[in-house]
Amino acid sequence: MSSGCADLCPLSGVTLVVRTAGGPGPLNLRERALPSNYLTRQAVRWASFPPVFDPHMRRPDDDVPAFYFAVRRGEVLVVAGQNGFELPRVEPDVPVEGRHILGSIGDEWLYGIDVPEGTDEPDDHLWVPLRQLYGKVPDPMWTIAGRAEQIVSWDRTHRYCGRCGTATESMEAERARRCPACGQLAYPRLSPAVIMLVTRGDHDEEALLAWGRQFPGRFYSTLAGFVEAGESLEQCVAREVREEVGIAVRDITYFGSQPWPFPNSLMLGFTARYDGGEVVIQEEEIVEACWFRWDELPKNVPMGGMSIAGWLIEDWVRRQAAR
Ligand SMILES: [Zn+2]
Repeated sequence: MSSGCADLCPLSGVTLVVRTAGGPGPLNLRERALPSNYLTRQAVRWASFPPVFDPHMRRPDDDVPAFYFAVRRGEVLVVAGQNGFELPRVEPDVPVEGRHILGSIGDEWLYGIDVPEGTDEPDDHLWVPLRQLYGKVPDPMWTIAGRAEQIVSWDRTHRYCGRCGTATESMEAERARRCPACGQLAYPRLSPAVIMLVTRGDHDEEALLAWGRQFPGRFYSTLAGFVEAGESLEQCVAREVREEVGIAVRDITYFGSQPWPFPNSLMLGFTARYDGGEVVIQEEEIVEACWFRWDELPKNVPMGGMSIAGWLIEDWVRRQAAR
């Protein structure tokens, strides 16, 4: 790997432990009443019909209905409702270091709120790590929470110019911070990473899956790695496969992408075919890498779910099953 990939692991940190007033412990939803300022029905509707999110920085004319994504260093403030967690519909009573308009869904505005570290949750609220929020709120809201976390984090870490050290200013019309002294611009940072399913056989019936050292326990998934400066995505796929497992690949084909806000990756999925060489693992990164038939996969393999690794594998298995 060109750089550490622990944050690309689709499973790390999935155990749900929510801080409550009584200290760390499992969350008991029944202990918490549903606040009146949450629209469970709306959230359920969104889960069934993902809304069209319009990203922009326009200020609303008046007091419009809103959702608030308050972020405290990778954690999102939610309220426990009857059907899982919900995003606040009124601005939570917390210290605010920055407020960002994320965009809107229909006539409802969405805000990202930067909350200082160490801020306790208001009554009936919980801080939940973004990764653990997956599945607890509708998928579109989880994706927007990831966007909020990245924008808040970027804004917080670009308050001074990297060239001359002057305090930067937010720009009105675009998501950028500008240095008033030298004009240097800083945009939200993205770190592109490729993730690839490598197959072999006359009908691509085997795939190479690896047990990464960063995975929590014995768990096999696709290979992945960060794109280097000056490299094309296809070159990156070939290099990462060569570095991690020592084999050559061909037929590198784009599959799809996924924002992965841990902390700011953009995952670019590919399929590729084996083109020669013996599997020799890079031991600093990988415990074991094996070829698995689609109908003889080990138990601990992502299938669908929250990450593009699972989507790649599920897509391959479905195509094999239909053959
Ligand atoms: Zn400057």
